[in-house]
Amino acid sequence: MSDTIEKVKCLIIGSGPAGYTAAIYAARANMFPVLYQGTQPGGQLTTTNEVENFPGYPDGVTGPEMMIQLQSQAKRFETDIRDGWVTKVDFSEGEHKVWVNETKEIHCDTVIISTGASAKYLGLDSEQKYLKLGGGVSACAVCDGFFYKNQEVVIVGAGDSACEEAHYLSKLCTKVTMLVRRDEFRASKIMAARVKNTKNIEILFNTETEEVLGDGQVVTGVKVKNNQTQVVHEIPVTGFFVAIGHKPNTDIFKGFLDLDETGYIINTPGTSKTNMEGVFVSGDAADHVYRQAVTAAGTGCMAALDAERYLAAKDSTFEVSTSNYN
Ligand code: NDP
Repeated sequence: MSDTIEKVKCLIIGSGPAGYTAAIYAARANMFPVLYQGTQPGGQLTTTNEVENFPGYPDGVTGPEMMIQLQSQAKRFETDIRDGWVTKVDFSEGEHKVWVNETKEIHCDTVIISTGASAKYLGLDSEQKYLKLGGGVSACAVCDGFFYKNQEVVIVGAGDSACEEAHYLSKLCTKVTMLVRRDEFRASKIMAARVKNTKNIEILFNTETEEVLGDGQVVTGVKVKNNQTQVVHEIPVTGFFVAIGHKPNTDIFKGFLDLDETGYIINTPGTSKTNMEGVFVSGDAADHVYRQAVTAAGTGCMAALDAERYLAAKDSTFEVSTSNYN
């Protein structure tokens, strides 16, 4: 083994709630975790304003603040938190190999994948502008819908997510306008029927977003075009929701781990185990259903406990800790 190769007991890839929770548990179990933060330290929550649905924060907390607190908690137990982007893995042989920033090679007894997923956006300049300003663009109705209580919003998309989120928003908002780019839904019949039967949801088929309108600080409306008639009109709203799918950040694991057709890692149900021994998954990289910070944190805990038990079974000198069970 060359001097440049580092050996670690537990490598955690990703720094969202799943990664930091895995780190807290792994560190308390004497697994000396090394955590690579990736290009978006703190994960998707750093793009959220207020988090009101994570238990333990009765007055809410901002996404970035919550991630700083999770990071501090992981550091308190001496997690080695590093900047760096995992660019390549090789899980084909006994010892799992991981490369950071193309160069640094690490050999790991266990790997916990917490790379998350990224919400897809339309990519319009105006959309990105108000997303960055935190001024009315969101890809998570469950996270942000509450801030639009008794207001009018638009949601883009026609899949199950868009239908579910439109229905969720319809219970909070006075009106939800759904923009569907084709003349039909992609969603299951039952989900589509539910939005069609909801009085305060208006569905505009064959309709695409031209521009998100605003006053420089917050969203004030959306300019849309009917792609059949080419007629353009403006809809006054304060919120612009995008629900056009998520992309799990799992490209580097292709060929080593079982992924579903969208790229989500397939885990053994009820566990964090992947098809590769010693490689565990937590958070949104394996979850297209719940996608919540609290469920990501829960599966981060599961991954660390599964990794600990795996190490104990493999190495008789490694003892399962008692600290995680009290
Ligand atoms: P999907 O890929 O199923 O749907 C994405 C939708 O966004 C499609 O209607 C697509 O339009 C539309 N879209 C994509 N790009 C654009 C664009 N640039 N402009 C406008 N519209 C666009 O993603 P979902 O997140 O909805 O669902 C992912 C998976 O999760 C699915 O398998 C789904 O069934 C599942 N799911 C299940 C739920 C449940 O069972 N409760 C809840 C949520 C998700 P088009 O149709 O024209 O391509």
